[in-house]
Amino acid sequence: MSHVFPRHTKSDLPTAVGGDGCYLIDANGKRYFDGSGGAAVSCLGHSDAAVIKAVQEQVEKLAFAHTGFMTSEPAEALADLLISKAPGTLDRVYFVSGGSEATEAAIKLARQYHLERGEPQRRHLIARRQSYHGNTLGALAAGGNAWRRQQFDPLLIGVSHIAPCYEYVDRSDGESSFDYGQRVANELEAEILRLGPDTVMAFMAEPVVGATLGAVPAVEGYFKRIREICDTYGVLLILDEVMCGMGRTGHLFACDADGVAPDILCIAKGLGAGYQPIGAMLCSSAIYDAIAQGTGFFQHGHTYLGHPVATAAGLAVVNQMLERDLVSRVAEKGTQLQAALMERFAQHPNVGDIRGRGLFRGLELVQDRDSKAPFDPAHGLAARIKRAALEAGLICYPMSGTRDGRMGDHILLAPPFILSETQIEEICDKLAIAIEEGLA
Ligand code: PLP
Repeated sequence: MSHVFPRHTKSDLPTAVGGDGCYLIDANGKRYFDGSGGAAVSCLGHSDAAVIKAVQEQVEKLAFAHTGFMTSEPAEALADLLISKAPGTLDRVYFVSGGSEATEAAIKLARQYHLERGEPQRRHLIARRQSYHGNTLGALAAGGNAWRRQQFDPLLIGVSHIAPCYEYVDRSDGESSFDYGQRVANELEAEILRLGPDTVMAFMAEPVVGATLGAVPAVEGYFKRIREICDTYGVLLILDEVMCGMGRTGHLFACDADGVAPDILCIAKGLGAGYQPIGAMLCSSAIYDAIAQGTGFFQHGHTYLGHPVATAAGLAVVNQMLERDLVSRVAEKGTQLQAALMERFAQHPNVGDIRGRGLFRGLELVQDRDSKAPFDPAHGLAARIKRAALEAGLICYPMSGTRDGRMGDHILLAPPFILSETQIEEICDKLAIAIEEGLA
């Protein structure tokens, strides 16, 4: 009997014993194509020699130094590299151990920034209904996924939620994509005015919504309007690229495609590519300066901030992306993946939408394509597809997300950047089996 406390106590999962490029291998020697990197983590596959070497060398040189006492070479080098590529005035990097720590730190930094500037009344956070920002209490409160929140609601801080930009379901007949984007972006302004403009500290959103909607980018112009509204009312813009950042969308930072720069940017998964747990919060020079010239201390922190081995892994990962021009490869392979998915599933009676950017793709599953009606949650479609996919030797990420109160099912794909054209076909073949078995 296992003594590990698993996520799902009622399922019997295989034991992973090895990784080989895009494949995971279990204790029976079965190979699984890792079509989602768990949840968009393993962007370089599972056996990248350069990253493995960097981790080994760093452990031998220096395993740990607490950031309350010392900084370290890999943390400094990775921060320099990220800032040299980051959009706008992002100027400082705060390294944490994962995505929830990054978004949690972002919320606290936003609050402290306004305090340092003498605006203690700014305490409201606005986010979007269909979003996921992590599982710690602050991050969970920011997210709008009703299913993830329901048991913990009494423990969560109050956060206002507005509509996401979810064109497939919400755009009205006859409304252009652009007008739709402006309409939902303007919900932010309405909410700021309702709360009182000088009481709002920040707005948080994922540029491409991952776990909750399944690779849904905003329409053109949406984030530009959001940026404008934030600037008008002195509200900080926090973009959560924990899942969609680090090259995943065919841009190093997902917001590059939207032509906006946030005040705070959260990244994680693809930064360590699974070789080490690492996340980061990048903030603008204005935010950093407010603290540096004020109390001089960010009232936050964890033991493993800026961990030398984790930052060494992150440095090697980003260097690999740049040296091998993997971000351009993502754009190219992403177009091929979208075309292959369209060819295979566009006419499927239960596939309502196929969308995404780069190697971040989602298929929305519906009971009826015309009405876009979702499946009855009792069908447990996502869980059935996940099981059938594992059986077929594919790891993909089917989820039941909330769709304005109702559940809706989607499958998220986020394969390694190194996948080949043949492997795109392998994903489609195995996915077709999993969908049919899940629907049966
Ligand atoms: N933010 C987004 C957009 C995510 O997708 C996730 C995880 O899926 C998180 C935050 C939380 O990251 P972690 O699971 O590393 O804490």
